[in-house]
Amino acid sequence: MSYVLLTGGAGYIGSHTALALLRAGEQVISFDNYSNSSPESLKRVEQLTGKSIIKIEGDVLDVEALAAVFAQYPVKAVVHFAGLKAVGESTQKPLWYYETNVGGTIKLCQVMAKFGVKNLVFSSSATVYGDAQNSPLPETTPTVAMNPYGQSKLMTEWVLQDLQHSDNSWNIAVLRYFNPVGADESGRIGEDPNGIPNNLMPFITQVAVGKRAELQIFGNDYPTVDGTGVRDYIHVTDLAAGHVAALQHLFTDPGFDSFNLGSGEGLSVLDIVTRFAAVNQVEVPYQFAARRPGDVARYFADPSKAKTLLNWQTEKTLDDIVRDSWNWQKNNPNGYN
Ligand code: NAD
Ligand code: UDP
Repeated sequence: MSYVLLTGGAGYIGSHTALALLRAGEQVISFDNYSNSSPESLKRVEQLTGKSIIKIEGDVLDVEALAAVFAQYPVKAVVHFAGLKAVGESTQKPLWYYETNVGGTIKLCQVMAKFGVKNLVFSSSATVYGDAQNSPLPETTPTVAMNPYGQSKLMTEWVLQDLQHSDNSWNIAVLRYFNPVGADESGRIGEDPNGIPNNLMPFITQVAVGKRAELQIFGNDYPTVDGTGVRDYIHVTDLAAGHVAALQHLFTDPGFDSFNLGSGEGLSVLDIVTRFAAVNQVEVPYQFAARRPGDVARYFADPSKAKTLLNWQTEKTLDDIVRDSWNWQKNNPNGYN
């Protein structure tokens, strides 16, 4: 019996990936300090699957706590979600972001090396393409950081690449996510942001449920189909399946590689808002506001590499995304609390 260890397993993407892995027959350990999540998400994954997860509360900066996991359980691979992800906060607290995101990954890899576990999937982000103007964006797009969060992802990618070059018994898949949205179709697990959401979809669902008065749409004068920003929204269930595929790839096609996980389709803010309202029969009041600094007009993936090498592509539709997002929010108006 061997385990897949998920750092940050209780978080939004980690919990959906735990669900997908259990359903794929894997045994799962979650290692999370619950700084941005609660063990309730994992309990619900256990209820949904009828299988149990080994839940360990710990910090990726705590080498001894990490080592204790590898000493106790035979781990065959790690999916490393644990990290900090708020762009604005990263500009205020850059040292904390670099320490957690870069330092945490280095410590994790040191412990993995010590225990001879050298299979790793890392949560990166499409933010490493900076303000690239030429979507669809393949993995060969030049990378650049726009803020400390993006820089921490890029630096971590370099660390991992250097590590694998230094020792080719490491197998590492870097996954660059586009815009994760949605929730498991059960409505039992989903995204549970703290405070005022920065991202579009949780803001929409909180407006729809009456927690916030209206959505501000940042900019309606972009050179896009309707003037609003265009992004590549990926259902979190598809994203979770991408991790299952990436783990398999580590064993069948070892080495280092980076993959975009996105749908390849660009959707505007108005596409999302109008479809959300129509499918769910709810009102989403909005008004147009100024462009948000740092936003680009159009940003979407070329996901063909993941299709070819991981045999993975998105399956969910926009209607699935808006329905599942709403199903989660209306059944859990206060998230996991
Ligand atoms: P999340 O905050 O829901 O999950 C991260 C988890 O890591 C949380 O459960 C948190 O408690 C845990 N954690 C944070 N610091 C930790 C530490 N020091 N030790 C142990 N656990 C710690 O975020 P998410 O949306 O699930 O994102 C997962 C990963 O994907 C992150 O690395 C994030 O940067 C990356 N990512 C997310 C998005 C997105 O839009 N959600 C996009 C691109 C990349
Ligand atoms: N957006 C918006 N209002 C909000 C939040 C986001 O109009 O309250 C827009 C944003 O300008 C972008 C898109 O929605 O065009 C997606 O933004 P999000 O923050 O979710 O993700 P990003 O692509 O910036 O990482």
